[in-house]
Amino acid sequence: AGVGSQKDRVVTREEWLRKWELGNIGFHKERGHPLLQKYLDVLLNGRSGLRIFFPLCGKAVEMKWLADMGHSAVGVEVSEQALKEFFAEHSLPYYEEPVPEISGAKRLRSTSGNISLYCCSIYDLSSSIVGKFDGVWDRGALVAVNPCDRQRYASLMITLMEKNSSYLLVAVSYDSNKHKGPPFYVPESEIKSLFG
Ligand code: SAH
Repeated sequence: AGVGSQKDRVVTREEWLRKWELGNIGFHKERGHPLLQKYLDVLLNGRSGLRIFFPLCGKAVEMKWLADMGHSAVGVEVSEQALKEFFAEHSLPYYEEPVPEISGAKRLRSTSGNISLYCCSIYDLSSSIVGKFDGVWDRGALVAVNPCDRQRYASLMITLMEKNSSYLLVAVSYDSNKHKGPPFYVPESEIKSLFG
């Protein structure tokens, strides 16, 4: 193990889809993340009606939580199953629409309109397709990105942010020689250099 050997490790799209099929989703939490509750004021900064982005969203319950507070939630996730489970588990009616700019992608949108989830790879998105965001909740996203894609991910995220936006990032500090993941170790120094 170790940070060195993690660098070349890759979790493929198929492996993620398979995790969802098998219900191998220990990363999913039924309860809202305590750090989002703790830092909610930092994210919102007294503002209302924000557009909040959830990269690599899975079926994160925080999307429902922020939507219920009057914000709009936009997520992106490769697993359609995850997105369908999200709407089903919250009993939210939704409809599907194609995303003309991205071949093979679709968007699942709550009937109320304030939750919009893209089923595609995050790397297919751009600000001309999804617009820019006032806030980002990055939990299990940067740390799930393959190390070889981190720079690309961070650069993309920066282009998706409005000027006065806040970015909440959850990363776990641990001994990468002793633990393999969740799923990759991103040292704080690297986070600083990625986001400047
Ligand atoms: N943020 C969520 C899920 C974290 S797990 C939470 O807090 O629960 C990471 C998720 O990213 C998985 O559901 C996986 O299917 C998805 N994923 C992996 N690579 C992706 C990519 N390139 N684009 C979009 N989603 C991706």
